[in-house]
Amino acid sequence: MSSVQKGGMFQRVALIGIGLIGSSISHAMRRGGLAGSIVGHAKSVATRDTALRLGLISTAYASAAEAVAGADLVILCVPVGACGAIAAEIGPHLAKGAIVTDVGSVKGAIVRDVGPHLPAGVHFVPGHPIAGTEYSGPESGFASLFDNRWCVLTPPPETDPAATAKLKALWEAMGSNVEVMTAEHHDMVLAITSHVPHLIAFNIVNTAAHLERVTDSEVIKFSAGGFRDFTRIAASDPTMWRDVFLNNKEAVLEMLGRFTEDLIHLQRAIRYGEADTLFRLFGEAREVRKGVIQAGQDTAAPNFGREAGADARGKAK
Ligand code: NAP
Repeated sequence: MSSVQKGGMFQRVALIGIGLIGSSISHAMRRGGLAGSIVGHAKSVATRDTALRLGLISTAYASAAEAVAGADLVILCVPVGACGAIAAEIGPHLAKGAIVTDVGSVKGAIVRDVGPHLPAGVHFVPGHPIAGTEYSGPESGFASLFDNRWCVLTPPPETDPAATAKLKALWEAMGSNVEVMTAEHHDMVLAITSHVPHLIAFNIVNTAAHLERVTDSEVIKFSAGGFRDFTRIAASDPTMWRDVFLNNKEAVLEMLGRFTEDLIHLQRAIRYGEADTLFRLFGEAREVRKGVIQAGQDTAAPNFGREAGADARGKAK
């Protein structure tokens, strides 16, 4: 597929960061013919070259400032901690009337770090596609990543509703369902649905790895007992997740406090042999899985639809 499309909802889209999410946006935009042209910048020459070779962008720029010149849509697809410095760099080079958005997994910090650098006449609509895999880099993206997944937009109160509506239409054209909410609410919801689950996965994988009496080979050999599913989540990019926890500290600590209280409740029930309590709590949790399947957010097939030996690549988190 050509990296340059005729017409589209935006004339010139600048992707800053071309990893899993940036490359998937390019695939989805080209699938739908949504952009006149897609240009981009990434930190390394290797990623810029790969993005050109794959046709993800038609022109690669060595700086973010050059990439955004003349763009009517700029999408920051870099780790949350990098967004502030990039916003400071691109601010003076943004075209009047351009929409600036991002895909970061935390929204309050993006509003805080990016907003102040955007000049008057530029529309700021932070966003977060709730879709991903444990893979990174420009070769890991695919066009259907956002299909039937939610994308949350968190425009500050002063943002022109027409800009939010235009970005909403773009995400819908890329296959997503869109919801608009405040950055604060987003960060609280995502702390429990995404951030704390990742922290638990990182922690349990390391706990198992550090066990002295269970050799590495036993941890791997018997991993299908449940551990394996945690290892998939724990394989996610360390830079991205470091930035998530540094930038959503309050909401994560609040949810971790609740989680710890509930864990201690379970611990007591096990210690004192409270069978009814354990059965009731496990039954309640099982119902949540049914809700996820009914909402179309995962497959009802056993074992997440894995075939024997199949690669789970492409599965949404
Ligand atoms: P990724 O695959 O690791 O790609 C990150 C991209 O950002 C790379 O192209 C990297 O360039 C570039 N980059 C990093 N720092 C930069 C800087 N200072 N200046 C310019 N480019 C820079 O990451 P990703 O998974 O696409 O994640 C990107 C964003 O999406 C993050 O904010 C994350 O929170 C959010 N998000 C991720 C997921 C997920 O499941 N992965 C889901 C939803 C949202 P190089 O390759 O040259 O280093």
